[in-house]
Amino acid sequence: MLKFLKQVGDYAKDSFQAAKFIGQGLAVTFDHMGRRPVTVQYPYEKLIPSERYRGRIHFEFDKCISCEVCVRVCPINLPVVDWEFNKEQKKKKLNHYSIDFGVCIFCGNCVEYCPTNCLSMTEEYELSAYDRHELNYDSVALGRLPEKVTLDPMVQPMRELAYLPKGVTDPHDLPKGSQRAGRHPEDILEELEQEKAQREKASADSEKN
Ligand code: SF4
Ligand code: SF4
Repeated sequence: MLKFLKQVGDYAKDSFQAAKFIGQGLAVTFDHMGRRPVTVQYPYEKLIPSERYRGRIHFEFDKCISCEVCVRVCPINLPVVDWEFNKEQKKKKLNHYSIDFGVCIFCGNCVEYCPTNCLSMTEEYELSAYDRHELNYDSVALGRLPEKVTLDPMVQPMRELAYLPKGVTDPHDLPKGSQRAGRHPEDILEELEQEKAQREKASADSEKN
């Protein structure tokens, strides 16, 4: 009998503990329900890709010298450079250039190594198509200017975490004119210039003395 009563007591104690923990968990859940969701409501709200984002590649036909460096540095030799040798000019003439974005891994090697900078990465990432052959961009499609999140009147652009002001983690409702955390490259350059000027002044002063 005593054993049975002890079992009942233990059961009641365990049940109380479990109910307490569930209550504590629910308190946290309800606390979160009162907070503003940080969800970005795509497609009406979109994050602005970072400045080094590797989106769709842009190509400038007139700058390409058909050297095929982009093909050699590509992990899958993807860019198709169709050229012919112009005997009169003794120069390669580019006929056609294409990149198949269904195969590209957006590593940016071709952009990095192109000697004439005719390739660049854009911030465009919405490339989905119903037919995979539509992803094979020719030189005209590659030369199209990229769509910008910030220029779309239907979209509310939002900053990514690294571009939010210090201490802010939610991209919604930022105060106007708020600066991103950290320093801009131009700020760093300015500081370096000032340091250089100070060093030069100090060395000029020491030479005088
Ligand atoms: S981004 Fe990378 S995978 Fe795509 S074409 Fe360039 S080198 Fe090739
Ligand atoms: S590396 Fe640049 S210049 Fe050379 S073929 Fe490729 S795109 Fe043209």
